[in-house]
Amino acid sequence: LSRQVVQAGECIFQEGELGDTAYIIEEGCVEVCIGEGENKIRISLLGKDNLIGEIALIDHQPRTATVRAVVHTVLVPIQRNMVDELLEKTDPVIQHLLHVVLERFRHKHGQYAEGKQVEQYDPQRYSADVLIRQRAVANLSLAEDMRFALQAQQFELYYQPICTISDSKIKGFEALLRWMHPVQGMIPPLDFLGLAEQTGQIRDIGLWTLKQACIDWPILRKRSRDDQPFVSVNMSAAQLTGATFVDEVKAILDEYNMPANELKLELTETCMIGNTQVALEVLVGLQSLGLTIALDDFGTGFSGLDYLQRYPIHTLKIDRAFVSRMLTNHESLQIVRASIDLAQSLGMEVLAEGIETEETRNLLNKLNCTLGQGWLFGKPAGMRHR
Ligand code: C2E
Ligand code: CA
Ligand code: CA
Ligand code: CA
Repeated sequence: LSRQVVQAGECIFQEGELGDTAYIIEEGCVEVCIGEGENKIRISLLGKDNLIGEIALIDHQPRTATVRAVVHTVLVPIQRNMVDELLEKTDPVIQHLLHVVLERFRHKHGQYAEGKQVEQYDPQRYSADVLIRQRAVANLSLAEDMRFALQAQQFELYYQPICTISDSKIKGFEALLRWMHPVQGMIPPLDFLGLAEQTGQIRDIGLWTLKQACIDWPILRKRSRDDQPFVSVNMSAAQLTGATFVDEVKAILDEYNMPANELKLELTETCMIGNTQVALEVLVGLQSLGLTIALDDFGTGFSGLDYLQRYPIHTLKIDRAFVSRMLTNHESLQIVRASIDLAQSLGMEVLAEGIETEETRNLLNKLNCTLGQGWLFGKPAGMRHR
């Protein structure tokens, strides 16, 4: 870290100038003033560990105040490019809210220091702002629409068959969520689930999904010839945090007379790496209801393998990314092979996703993979479209 030393009375930055740096006060004290000469007003005195100059850094507008050292002061400068990088990684909604808040702040501030604002127009910066704003507004309006989507019955579950690889018999179905947006048409889950997680609506959507799968099950069930078919429902990590989740699942099973042993819940590694103690309790609780748990997207996470032993996982789902490339990419093939062996040696059921061709199916059959899912067996389809 670099340091900047300023003496008592020395100016750190001046109202109206453009600045590329914010500062943390490491030592000493500064005064923050607006106006000059007789009109000068000291708005605050700041000491150690305070941040100054951050506003201009975020919104690229002129400084809103003048800051001077009161005593010998040591500052840690923070450069704009670092902040820009962090902001860029931040969700567009948060970026937008931050800009709105800062705009308000400046507007209010401008009323104190009228006439002193330097207007600087930077077209490049402006177009970047417009893009952020468009993304943020699109997200905000999608989030707003989502609040009514459940009530308005705009969600629908599609079902994709899960089959035995050796003889293509339907063993079960995976429920896949679709949002039938009244204006935008069908929105795929990956385009709105992230937002649903950020806004917390994922909890209600997740419970709806589970309920709907239980409602559809008596009809769907007849489409499998297996003695004990199952329906598999996706759960996101955000749903699992509360200990009440197990009770909620139990209440739904009871309400819809759903046989627990015909329900599978698909979880990803992210559900298991956060708060491991809570995750373990939830998973054990779910298992004790009589349902089974599948580990989804296996191979795409980075969390090591120890959790395979720690959690009650019944089924390993090998991610489509590896399955779809296994005929052309040697590493993918090795990953698929190793995953199948690992699952079998741990006594787990193993399922390969994204099987699109007969060749892939044959190879998986040779590798002793028992279950498969993919366009070869059937695409996801709504109950009404069958
Ligand atoms: P996933 O759980 O890995 O689901 C498999 C995805 O692969 C589905 O995409 C499915 O349509 C697609 N797929 C299946 N077979 C094939 C194939 O042979 N070829 C190709 N190219 N694709 C295939 P979808 O329906 O768009 O869902 C995407 C993801 O959204 C899911 O990935 C899952 O993570 C999430 N998701 C879907 N429904 C729900 C839900 O109800 N709740 C939660 N929390 N997540 C869901
Ligand atoms: Ca899944
Ligand atoms: Ca999957
Ligand atoms: Ca996947």
